[in-house]
Amino acid sequence: MVKQQPMSKPNDRMAALEQERNDLIAENQQLRQALAGLQKAHKRVRSQLSRERLIDEIAQQIRQSLKFDDILSTAVAEVRQFLDVDRALIYRFQPDWSGIITFESTAPEISSILYTKFEEPCFRHSYVERYQAGRVRAIADIDAADVQACHRQLLATYQVRANLVVPILQGDDTLWGLLIAHHCRATRQWDEFDIGLLQRLATQLGVAIQQSELHAQLAERATTDALTQLANRRRFDQYLGEVWQQHHRRQSAIALLMLDIDFFKRYNDHYGHPQGDECLRQVSQALSQAVKRTIDLVARYGGEEFAVVLPDTEIAGALEVAAAIQAGVAQLNIEHRESPFGLITLSCGVAADLPQNQDSPDYLIKAADQALYQAKTSGRNRVVCANPR
Ligand code: GH3
Ligand code: MG
Ligand code: MG
Repeated sequence: MVKQQPMSKPNDRMAALEQERNDLIAENQQLRQALAGLQKAHKRVRSQLSRERLIDEIAQQIRQSLKFDDILSTAVAEVRQFLDVDRALIYRFQPDWSGIITFESTAPEISSILYTKFEEPCFRHSYVERYQAGRVRAIADIDAADVQACHRQLLATYQVRANLVVPILQGDDTLWGLLIAHHCRATRQWDEFDIGLLQRLATQLGVAIQQSELHAQLAERATTDALTQLANRRRFDQYLGEVWQQHHRRQSAIALLMLDIDFFKRYNDHYGHPQGDECLRQVSQALSQAVKRTIDLVARYGGEEFAVVLPDTEIAGALEVAAAIQAGVAQLNIEHRESPFGLITLSCGVAADLPQNQDSPDYLIKAADQALYQAKTSGRNRVVCANPR
């Protein structure tokens, strides 16, 4: 006979079922938590991967591009989009540690603060060294953070609720500027990925800055005369060509001066070549000082010959500049015993014209050169105007 299990009481069965249900609920909860954790981890990995990709893309762009402005405007646009912030900025320090917002990307409803200048008298003492050492400033809630009252007020003016600031260092330790993210619609807990992204971008920007400054230096060197520091012949040709096109479009006059030191061979022979070089330097300085506008270009055309491009200038204006140059050189009072004038002097040919359709600047150069030749043959130390066409 089979021994029958004693029938459990209904209460016990209920308790067992209840226990089983609770276990299932707990297990379900654990599973849900594990799943949420996995999803979060997955999201992080994905977002980290796309951040890596973004940094790679920007780094590549930086390596390929020498157009500095393009790099910086792309960087702020990408930061804003990628971190989903309301404003991304590049803040550029001035030599006195005041600063200016030089690049910006803002969400549509957010006000622009591009080109805003900031004077922060305490910045030099309080922050420069810290940022130079790589300091990162991450504020989740401006209202709750330990910031100076005036700074808080300033940030409130620009609707900032949370901000993230990393230094842009040029080379290893020169603080060039700051890369800044502003969150305006809400406070924001910045995570390590946000911070990492901004830091790595700032490093890439530092490389780009270094690279573009080097490029600018090389370009400058390629267009500057080493002895006199004036523009060289290459720069002269380039500039006159550009100005010519521009003035042809708007039908405005260009004037050109060609100048040549009188009896310079005798000067060299008498005083020696090094002193001849020194004389060229002094004359170059006098030329630069006599020419006032930033759009005017003084160039060493070759040897002891100089050229001055005067955009938007008629013959009368050009003659004034020529007279100022001659007065400036006379004031140098450089002795020249082998010259009938007893001093270093210049001969000058002047031409001015409206660029015509069929012309290239060669016509103007030829005209000024002929006038210079006339100045030489008619006695030197004088200014001669080219014949009008
Ligand atoms: P002119 O009044 O007709 O212009 O006579 P000049 O002697 O000035 O002209 P010329 O063309 O006969 O001589 C130019 C001299 O300029 C000869 C050359 O040695 C000198 N020269 C050219 N470049 C340099 C330079 O870089 N340094 C020095 N020291 N002399 C230079
Ligand atoms: Mg000469
Ligand atoms: Mg000459």
